[in-house]
Amino acid sequence: MDTQKIALVTGGSRGLGRNMVVNLAKKGIDIVLTYNTNRQEAEKVVAEIESLGQKAIAFQLDTGNVKSFDGFIQQVGEHLREKTGSPNIDFLINNAGTALYAPFADTTEEQVDAMFNIHYKGVFFLTQKALPFINDGGRIINISSGLARFAFVGSAGYGAMKGAVEVLTRYLAKELGPRGIAANVVAPGAIETDFGGGQVRDNKDVNDHVAGVTALGRAGLPDDIGGVVAFLCTEEARWINGQRIEVSGGMML
Ligand code: NDP
Repeated sequence: MDTQKIALVTGGSRGLGRNMVVNLAKKGIDIVLTYNTNRQEAEKVVAEIESLGQKAIAFQLDTGNVKSFDGFIQQVGEHLREKTGSPNIDFLINNAGTALYAPFADTTEEQVDAMFNIHYKGVFFLTQKALPFINDGGRIINISSGLARFAFVGSAGYGAMKGAVEVLTRYLAKELGPRGIAANVVAPGAIETDFGGGQVRDNKDVNDHVAGVTALGRAGLPDDIGGVVAFLCTEEARWINGQRIEVSGGMML
């Protein structure tokens, strides 16, 4: 029998992360998910995963606070060691994140620092600190955005950090190849979640605009994304490495 695989998904409590963990569980993968502020939502997702027959646990983590990562990794490791005999995971999905909508000319240093901490530094160091606990042959998936390829006014501070994560991912693929660990980027287009105050979902003008610039003619839904991430964690996807996979219905072609 294959050994049980485990995925660690940051921001797995809502939106895209929630859809990812559900799709991973449907593939028979156990889940460690994180939330930042909303424990209740995270516990609902844990119950959903358990109802699918997989094991799940939620931990609090602010991915913008690198100083907390050692404690977090230790906490996860202790839990997994107790449950499975090993602190290791197989898949790390760096998904957590927050939005920033501000014109370039008005973007403040504090806003850029927040984007840097959450979207780049957090991904860099969580991956670095998790690395000793990722099994050889594992996978890393970093969540970027269509906004790293095309430019929408007001997304300079955010989009540029996603661009940085895409470059980082190619370096991870190169350096971790000797351990058989593949690293890829999934870059969603605009998706209807709570992200950015739920703009894409709740603001009809924004939603119509996104639909208008998308070849398939609508804004994305969480369910358009989670299955792709889950696929990247399958044996069939083993030869995909160092790639940016945009999942946007063909935005801004
Ligand atoms: P949501 O706002 O729906 O969910 C965000 C999730 O991340 C929640 O679980 C939240 O936890 C967690 N989170 C937020 N801030 C932090 C933090 N500082 N530290 C740790 N966890 C945090 O967003 P989406 O699901 O839409 O976005 C997920 C990812 O997808 C992000 O990286 C985003 O940039 C990217 N993306 C989103 C697109 C979209 O249109 N929705 C498009 C392209 C990319 P809690 O609820 O506890 O705060």
